[in-house]
Amino acid sequence: MGGLDDLYQQLILDHYRNRRGRGRIENASASVHEHNPVCGDECYLDILVVDDRLVEVRSDGDGCSISQAAASMLTEVAEGKQLDEALDTVEHFRLMMHGETEPDEDVLGDAIALEGVAKYPVRVKCALLSWLALRDAIAGYRETTAHGG
Ligand code: ZN
Repeated sequence: MGGLDDLYQQLILDHYRNRRGRGRIENASASVHEHNPVCGDECYLDILVVDDRLVEVRSDGDGCSISQAAASMLTEVAEGKQLDEALDTVEHFRLMMHGETEPDEDVLGDAIALEGVAKYPVRVKCALLSWLALRDAIAGYRETTAHGG
């Protein structure tokens, strides 16, 4: 206990108070709305994809500090990544939240600060909400482009 926990706590609060990537994208490639009924968190996630890359990621919505900080960290980490790379990152985050992997800061960026949330099952859904929204958005985008030609 001590130093690292405090640092992580401050990172979470900082992302909660100063949301990165907050807002919507007018001409989004895909949009997803997720809701966590257990806590009341709302998440809108928009992505803009060019050449299989996430050139823009925006999230909006309201909820508890964990859900909002997680969304902020997600936009920061995901923006600029190739779609497959972004999906790998989401999966790594999901495994961390279930305590099933050793988290890698190089992959997760500031989101590594949410590691401790894995100890609170009720809060895990809050942290995962926006990240799984990104997974759904990418899947939705791929479905659209596959059918649309
Ligand atoms: Zn929540």
